[in-house]
Order: sequence, then C-alpha cells, then structure tokens
Amino acid sequence: MTIATVISEYLSDTDRVVTPDEPLRIALDMESVLVDTFGYFLPVYNNEFGTEYERHDIDNWHWVRTEIEMHDFNRIVNEGWRDCAFDPAEDALPETVSIIGDDPRFHIDVVTARTGVDSEMLSWLSKHEITEFNNFHSVDVSKATLDYELFIDDNPTLVQDLSESQFQIVIAGPHNLDVNGHRAVLSPSVRTAVDSVVEAVERRTQTQQESV
Ligand SMILES: [Mg+2]
Repeated sequence: MTIATVISEYLSDTDRVVTPDEPLRIALDMESVLVDTFGYFLPVYNNEFGTEYERHDIDNWHWVRTEIEMHDFNRIVNEGWRDCAFDPAEDALPETVSIIGDDPRFHIDVVTARTGVDSEMLSWLSKHEITEFNNFHSVDVSKATLDYELFIDDNPTLVQDLSESQFQIVIAGPHNLDVNGHRAVLSPSVRTAVDSVVEAVERRTQTQQESV
C-alpha cells in the first residue's frame, strides 16, 4: 500500500474532508526531519570521547538514553544550534515545505520538543529559506496533546499517544524502523510525505464528491 493510500484511508475512516475552510492541521518536526542532527552530533561526540559511532549504530529510539549520557547529547546538540552548525536533512526543503505551506487546504506549524534554543532554530529556518509555514512552537508536553491531526515526525513513540483523529508519517531512520501501530506510516523523506499528503487529500475529496 502506498503512503497516500494509507493516509486517504485515515481521512475516510475519520470522515474527514479537507477544505480551505477546514484545513488539515500539520505539525512538522525539526530534529532528524528538517535538520540532520546526527550528521553534526556524531563526529563531535566521537572526537570528544574517542568513539567510532556511525549513523547506523543508532538503531533504536532509546539509543541516547541507553548508550551514552543524555546530558552530553543535549549539550552537543545545543552547541550545534548556537553555532548554526546543522545541515538540512534533505535537499529542496524550502520547496517541499511550501507545497503545503502555500496551499490553503493545509495549516502547517513547525513544532519541536527541544526547548531553550527557539531563536537559534528560527535563525536556522530562515538561513535555509524554510519560511512557508504558519507558526513555530517549542513545547515541553507530548505533541499528541496538541491540536494537530497529522504529525510529520521521526519519533516512533509518539504514535502510542495519538488519538483516533490523529495520525503520523514517521520519517524513516535507523532509529525508528521498528515503529508499529495502525496510526503511523513510514516515509523515506519529507518530500515523499508531503507529496503523499497532497495526493491523499485530493483522492479523498474526489471520492467524497463522487458519493454526493
Ligand atoms: Mg525529531
């Protein structure tokens, strides 16, 4: 089943027709979605601690908590934000975000669970010309408690907290390939996620019009 098919089934199951009057509310994550956090973190960490970790070693969501010290991870990542040192996680992100950001059928906010570096994150977004979103939120609660219907996020534990009217496109990485739950679908990239959402909404609208 394609990602678009999975999403259009969610929309149909929840009787949701997306229109400019009732736009689909989307939360787009920052780290490991828009931002290549580990591409910066790993060489800095390896250099400091004499380790040889590679990206594929981070093969589960709890890697940071179980393999290294959380405070070292946060210290290095926060330094990365202050130095604006991260690369975008994939090419053409300004265009990708604007596909839904410029479409009145969607309301898209950038939502991060990292706190304390809001202005650095906003600077990073503007430096990389990712500007076609509505709002930016840095939150210290579960994202599932927020008023969004679709999460584009790499956190595989988020899906466990989602309500019946919420679903998630999990941006795939070595740390989340074991995600399971009927409210989530894996996508290899943000671009594929965005294209699939647009296709799903169009398919759903067409089906609904045909049934009227
Ligand atoms: Mg993330």
